[in-house]
Amino acid sequence: MELYPKIETSSRDTIKQFQESKLKELLIYLQDHSPFYQRLFKENNLDINDIKTLEDLQKIPTTSKNDLQQHNHNFFCVPFDKIVDYSTTSGTLGDPVTFGLSDNDLERLAYNEAISFACAGVQKGDVVQMITTIDKRFMAGLAYFLGLRKMGASVVRMGPGIPELQWDSIFRYKPKYLITVPSFLLKMIDYAEKHGLDYKNSSVYGAICIGEGLKNQDFADNILSKKIKEKWDIQLFSTYASTEMSTAFTECEFQVGGHQHPELIITEILDENENPVQEGESGELTITTLGVEAIPLLRFKTGDLVKAHYEPCQCGRNTMRLSPVIGRKQQMIKYKGTTLYPPAMGDILNDFNNILCYQIVIQSDEIGLDEIIIKLSTDNENENFVNEVRDHFRAKLRVGPKIEIVDFDILSKIVFNPISRKPINFIDLRA
Ligand SMILES: [Zn+2]
Repeated sequence: MELYPKIETSSRDTIKQFQESKLKELLIYLQDHSPFYQRLFKENNLDINDIKTLEDLQKIPTTSKNDLQQHNHNFFCVPFDKIVDYSTTSGTLGDPVTFGLSDNDLERLAYNEAISFACAGVQKGDVVQMITTIDKRFMAGLAYFLGLRKMGASVVRMGPGIPELQWDSIFRYKPKYLITVPSFLLKMIDYAEKHGLDYKNSSVYGAICIGEGLKNQDFADNILSKKIKEKWDIQLFSTYASTEMSTAFTECEFQVGGHQHPELIITEILDENENPVQEGESGELTITTLGVEAIPLLRFKTGDLVKAHYEPCQCGRNTMRLSPVIGRKQQMIKYKGTTLYPPAMGDILNDFNNILCYQIVIQSDEIGLDEIIIKLSTDNENENFVNEVRDHFRAKLRVGPKIEIVDFDILSKIVFNPISRKPINFIDLRA
């Protein structure tokens, strides 16, 4: 298969025209097959023939997570007997949404992941160790497997957790790449050091990292990445995806944001009033899937705040690149005149080697204002430690949250809940 599609090196104009022709196909498909969008077109007196350019998308109302939740079945464009796999969104807020994938959707998913891994440098014949789950209705895990198979790589499916077994597998099968939540690499390093494993000379060249940010907005390494690389000098590639998008944005070797694949997804970056932001400004990523058969989405608002970068990349691709996610729109915290997002707080907490695990809890106080409580476990017994952490928050974010020390045995069970695919470092208890 072609792992470096020609369209990615085409000019921005050519990419736009190509996407507009794909958009046309999508609109016809939705008009014919999607109960949800049929109704939406009808209720808004929309003639799909009036949507010719990417700018025309603005004439169509956006689709929200709420729409997906309330009308989940109306989004299905194929009968249920065509569904091969049922995946669900992670559902940290409310009920999860069901995504059925048809046989063609699995092919598309495999293609998407294969070109995304190729973007990060994975090649045919490479051994890749998956430190993520492939089950629990997790679409990405399945995508990794299918994509690696499609490109001719070898997969070692370890699943998450248990550093001892991960190392055993690394020494046995000599993977070149790992796919993991990056903070887990710190646990693996810690285990290797305590048990005298020669991890610095292992076969691992790089890790493709999900779920947690690795970069600041200027693409410099954030604290988590620095902490990993200080100990273990491997390449760390970010990949960003979601069940709704069924598409990944993965970094190339130059690591300046996840590349868009124009044949798979149309992106818009919208402001509060759903107008496109100026180029270079941040806004909510809004996506339109291309080539999806079972549950295609039109102008779906992801809730993720990002920036788009359009300059051609040194790797030769001219596709748009997405910045690290600034935060989830819903998780915005207004605290004493400052607006902030959980990832910025996580970054500060990751800076302390003595913090063994943490959870950021946001709740409403008695007058409805946002209140931040940081629960953390530490092996630092100095009673000044809490003040030190709080001072760091004041210096970096200009807020001084409440900090509670919690016993590691109790907190680690809450943070690393086996039911969740990722560590639960953030809980929103606001009404
Ligand atoms: Zn690139």
